Amino acid sequence: MSEKSSGLLALEKIAGFVIPYSEEKLISMKPDNLELISNYAARTKQLDAILSILTKEFCATQCDWNSDEKGMYCGCCEAKFYDTSMIDELLILQRLEARNNGWEKGFAKGSECDYFSEEGCKLRIFKSPTCIGYVCKRIFKPFTSTPEGKNLVDNFYYSMMDVFAGRIDVRRAQVLKSLDKAIAYGSKLVIMKNTSGFLT
Ligand code: SF4
Ligand code: SF4
Repeated sequence: MSEKSSGLLALEKIAGFVIPYSEEKLISMKPDNLELISNYAARTKQLDAILSILTKEFCATQCDWNSDEKGMYCGCCEAKFYDTSMIDELLILQRLEARNNGWEKGFAKGSECDYFSEEGCKLRIFKSPTCIGYVCKRIFKPFTSTPEGKNLVDNFYYSMMDVFAGRIDVRRAQVLKSLDKAIAYGSKLVIMKNTSGFLT
């Protein structure tokens, strides 16, 4: 049995779960792929935290589309993009992450995607660029009453569109740059939300 590399142990820390030795493909991952995935996950973790602050409360309490009939209180997803622009190792990590979050295959309701649940998506940091980069325009409404807010929303939205269109590709680090931009603008939106109090 090969030892886990320091890079893999660092990835486990970011992921928040232990990678079983039975996942040979992850244990013996090429260094380039490991570096890319670690860099990707470190950023998606930050972006997920930002999106949680920006969207969760709005989805649960203010979205008129999020009705009792649908029975969804933590956001919605009618897509099936978990495997878009991905590499094999990330698909395995998705399965491990979802299981760590209480996922059981086939319990999806109201969505085509197996990773969707009544609590929302069971993936957080190992979402595909398409999934993490999608942002629902409804959540921006409270931010756009001032020119400053509107400008910030535009910048955030366009950087998220770049993430959405990004690919996991060891030869091109573009998706990492797009994530950095989205994190920078998203952080400013969080500050705006916290200081303005318009969503509290
Ligand atoms: S993601 Fe958009 S449409 Fe879905 S519940 Fe949230 S605000 Fe509503
Ligand atoms: S992985 Fe999550 S965000 Fe992506 S399509 Fe499935 S439920 Fe939606």
